[in-house]
Amino acid sequence: MRRKKLSTEELTNGIRKGDRLVLSRAITLVESQRPEDMEQAEVLLQTLLPATGRSFRLGITGVPGVGKSTFIEAFGTLLTEKGLKLAVLTIDPSSQRSKGSILGDKTRMEELARNPNAFIRPSASGSTLGGVSGKTREVMLLCEAAGFDFIIVETVGVGQSETLVHGMVDFFLLLMLAGAGDELQGIKKGIMEMADAVVINKADGDNLKPAKRAKVEYQNALHLFPANLSGWIPQVKTCSALEKSGLEEVYEMLDKFKRKVKSNGYFDKNRADQQVSWFKENLTDLLRTSFFKKPEVKQRYEEKLKEVQSGKTPALNAAREVISII
Ligand code: GDP
Repeated sequence: MRRKKLSTEELTNGIRKGDRLVLSRAITLVESQRPEDMEQAEVLLQTLLPATGRSFRLGITGVPGVGKSTFIEAFGTLLTEKGLKLAVLTIDPSSQRSKGSILGDKTRMEELARNPNAFIRPSASGSTLGGVSGKTREVMLLCEAAGFDFIIVETVGVGQSETLVHGMVDFFLLLMLAGAGDELQGIKKGIMEMADAVVINKADGDNLKPAKRAKVEYQNALHLFPANLSGWIPQVKTCSALEKSGLEEVYEMLDKFKRKVKSNGYFDKNRADQQVSWFKENLTDLLRTSFFKKPEVKQRYEEKLKEVQSGKTPALNAAREVISII
């Protein structure tokens, strides 16, 4: 049984009041691929836009097992204790391909899930050509309009979605382990380069010493990267998500970052740049989809495909002949 559809006004009012059920319904709407839903979602986003943008957006990545959910549970609880309202959005690049999902098990972040000042939502990683992004950015805007002032976007560090998350957050935090070696952790140099901070988790028990050593090593490694446009020097911290130590230091670091980039203008500039990139990405996506939907394109595409397969027409020429339809 389908539930009664909420009107745009009902959705807007509910979100503005911070009604979590309405927020969930709005997220489902924004993620929907049905043309009438997409139309309503656009009106909703336009209406709510003035109420968005006021949160701090934190991206967290790290390989499975590094302790992301334990960290988010502990750090998120700390944030709510400071009076912040936290939304956690998880992007799982595996969920499209296999039905099973790395982040999907329901036992993750149980405590935070019960916290009245926290909202956790897995974000399907979209099926758009080339994009794994889905609608995480739009979901983030809805959460902001609903009064969440801290957003964590979490992704599994398996290489596909980090750039994407980096492009939608204010601060990009890489969780790592001591002693596992960069290659073992599957962290590519490019991802290290994007990080505003490397936080070495599980700095407890026997692992405390190696964690401290790793801190120095990462600090040295980060120094070799070109200076960050934000004027911020990437930091290395250690913490234990399990023992809840080092978390206050992470919070203070974020606060310091925020003050710095707000005063030097980078915060706003970065957000504006991110919006521009998102606009361009959407434009390319929409162009591609609407182009391939045209019947005459479909027909010529099939023709040219065969010609290319049989070696009759060079690939570039064939592509141009399809494009010449517009
Ligand atoms: P995720 O896959 O990155 O989300 O990792 P999880 O949060 O599920 O953690 C993986 C395992 O590491 C779990 O068994 C956790 O209890 C454990 N773990 C997480 N953080 C810590 C920590 O700070 N110290 C120790 N010793 N274990 C931790």
